[in-house]
Amino acid sequence: MSHDAPAKPASSKLVIRNIGLLLSGELDRPILDADTVVAVDGVIQTVGKAKDIDTTGATTTIDAKDTALAPGLIDSHVHPVCGDWTPRQNQLGWIDSCLHGGVTTMVSAGEVHTPGRPKDIVGLKAMAIFAQRAFHLFRPGGVRIYAGAPVPEQGMVEDDFKELAAAGVKLLGEVGLGSVKDGTTGRRMVAWARKYGIQSTIHTGGPSIPGSSLIDKDMVLETDADVIGHVNGGHTALPDDQIVELCERSPRALEIVHNGNERAGLLALRTAKELKQLHRVILGTDSPAGSGVQPLGILRMISMLASLGEIPAQVAICLATGNTAKMRSLNCGLIAAGREASFVFLDTAQQSSGKNLLDSIQKGDLPGVGMVVTDGAVSIQRSRNTPPATRVAEVVRA
Ligand SMILES: [Zn+2]
Repeated sequence: MSHDAPAKPASSKLVIRNIGLLLSGELDRPILDADTVVAVDGVIQTVGKAKDIDTTGATTTIDAKDTALAPGLIDSHVHPVCGDWTPRQNQLGWIDSCLHGGVTTMVSAGEVHTPGRPKDIVGLKAMAIFAQRAFHLFRPGGVRIYAGAPVPEQGMVEDDFKELAAAGVKLLGEVGLGSVKDGTTGRRMVAWARKYGIQSTIHTGGPSIPGSSLIDKDMVLETDADVIGHVNGGHTALPDDQIVELCERSPRALEIVHNGNERAGLLALRTAKELKQLHRVILGTDSPAGSGVQPLGILRMISMLASLGEIPAQVAICLATGNTAKMRSLNCGLIAAGREASFVFLDTAQQSSGKNLLDSIQKGDLPGVGMVVTDGAVSIQRSRNTPPATRVAEVVRA
């Protein structure tokens, strides 16, 4: 663009006003003193006080009705296959159901449930490229799904990773779900992936389903994947001393999942907290899986970890938003200028004994979702899946 070219006119301007509680997703500053957010063309432009912000020219205005605004939740660990269908439980519409649980971004840990999943190298590369492409374009309800996560198999060479990266693949599915079962091979493949900008995850713990196998702390440490996938097992957890050792000896992300061992998840959380490394803790569901699909799985993790894990509710929300975005280099998960304008509006569930939203989460209740916005546009209003929010945001001008 030349120096004096006219600025491209904004095609959309979203103004959210009367925010009662602004949950930033930022671990160091989880609550902001702000009541207004402006987003232009799906990107957050301004966060602050109404009196200081130009809210004119809005194409959509949302009155938050004094409810809380948080970044759209991120599910760090899903197993999509194709479209909004999972063969694991033969269920349609699972992604849309999760949107009603406040999730606006999902990260694939491998499209491993694909019927007839190819395990030969050409076939697995083709499937990964297809999944990356298809989910890039397919956004049910506005949910963004980062998919195309090939599970490494024996025989892959450096050129395979180079080729995958050149084709747009940015994720490696869970190391250990394929034929790579030793740390030496795992480490070599993760290093090639990293060299070409592909982020990696390792399966941690006992086998998930018949055919998979145990991955212990020695293999996790040696492989050194970017994300210690389900550090609390998926579902079978490692012994406590091994979980503590992973927290202490690895600098990588500690992913706690809904479909894991809850006691082990609390152990990982407490250990990370003692180590002053809460920024490494990220949340996923590990669904669809044998345990099913949990549309409220991320909200349930937030309430479980806040109520039983002795962390403030606003911090628990950071684990499912800003922490995951930072550990996975995603441009969402924070309410800050320049970030994707994807939000969830929350309020105390009706009849909760909590005296406000954060207190209700602290007491173990789930919040009610009143609205979800993806990329600056309203995706849903009152959730069909959460307990009803006491107050809900309203679109006052569309
Ligand atoms: Zn796994």
